[in-house]
Amino acid sequence: MATQTAEINPSPTEKKKLIRRTAPDRSQRIRLLVQIFFVLLNAWLGVQFYLWVRYFERGGVGLQVARPAGVEGWLPIAGLMNSKFFLRTGHVPAIHPAAMFLFMAFLLMSLLVKKSFCSWICPVGTVSERLAKLGRKIFRRNLRVHRWIDIPLRGLKYLILGFFAVMIGMMSAATIGEFMHTPYGLIADVKMLNFFRDMSQSAAIVIVALFLLSILIENFWCRYLCPYGALMGLASLLSPLKIRRNPDACIDCAKCARACPSNLPVDRLVTVRSVECAACMACVAACPAQDALQLSLAPNRVKPGLPAPSPLAWYRRAVGPLAITAILATIFFGFVLYARASGHWHTNLPNAVYQELVPHANEASHPGLE
Ligand code: SF4
Ligand code: SF4
Repeated sequence: MATQTAEINPSPTEKKKLIRRTAPDRSQRIRLLVQIFFVLLNAWLGVQFYLWVRYFERGGVGLQVARPAGVEGWLPIAGLMNSKFFLRTGHVPAIHPAAMFLFMAFLLMSLLVKKSFCSWICPVGTVSERLAKLGRKIFRRNLRVHRWIDIPLRGLKYLILGFFAVMIGMMSAATIGEFMHTPYGLIADVKMLNFFRDMSQSAAIVIVALFLLSILIENFWCRYLCPYGALMGLASLLSPLKIRRNPDACIDCAKCARACPSNLPVDRLVTVRSVECAACMACVAACPAQDALQLSLAPNRVKPGLPAPSPLAWYRRAVGPLAITAILATIFFGFVLYARASGHWHTNLPNAVYQELVPHANEASHPGLE
């Protein structure tokens, strides 16, 4: 998906006077705190899930903990399938319902606040960002992939997304329900854990290569390969919040463009509409000029008979990092609390079923591949 470059500003002809911003930017500090919260939450879920699996692997001996349903956030395909099941039948799926609620919450975040899921919440995005930072420490900069290689590579994630979309699109609600009740569907989360625990040599090589590439090239995984990010990017096209630049206040220093992890030409756009914009606000943080760049709603329309709004009208409709945090938290906790309160958060399977399946998880093969 190509970067949308509508409303490109003509090249500046004369140097403008810098009116420095009055308040320091706090967006990156606040975003980091949100990222840390979600990394810790995922670490806690991971440890609890591991202990839950080990209990059944030991034959029901040792510390017994509850299965953390939140781990289903790592089952995006189950989330997509269950969402289709729900939309078709109107029934909340019995198996991995949390995957559906979390998927819907993340999708809603993208519909409202660009691809904020990727830069504020996803732990993979957080690790990817830190690896790129490490690369800048070691090599003083990240590699910029040439545009002619970058554009086709960015298309890869849409191809992967298209593959899953076609596969799920071909499944009826009844087929999805049956799939989820197969041993493979029931313990898809355990199989995912085992993928990392019993990693094959080739999988380990791929993961190490992804780590190294993420050190060299900023957001390598997110930018080129993540189908989840691709879907969130498509949803973000509908977001009313966008990065907007006021050419009158802008001094054309291009600091915003240099700070953008998605390599977007922020300094030449009036509105950043790209699917690659993750609402990280790094551009806003880098901008030295007062009222030049913000994440904001569209300016008010010109009303007939009334004077045109000031060019800064959109600035008054700007949304700061605390407001973004509040929106994301409301959506996340809103979905989780609703699912819990309505009794649809947990997969309610008897322990006897898990006791039979979990120790033999590696023997459960994908129903279509038997
Ligand atoms: S730096 Fe600005 S334009 Fe670039 S991804 Fe972040 S919010 Fe979007
Ligand atoms: S950082 Fe970007 S928006 Fe801000 S003054 Fe420089 S070019 Fe203009």
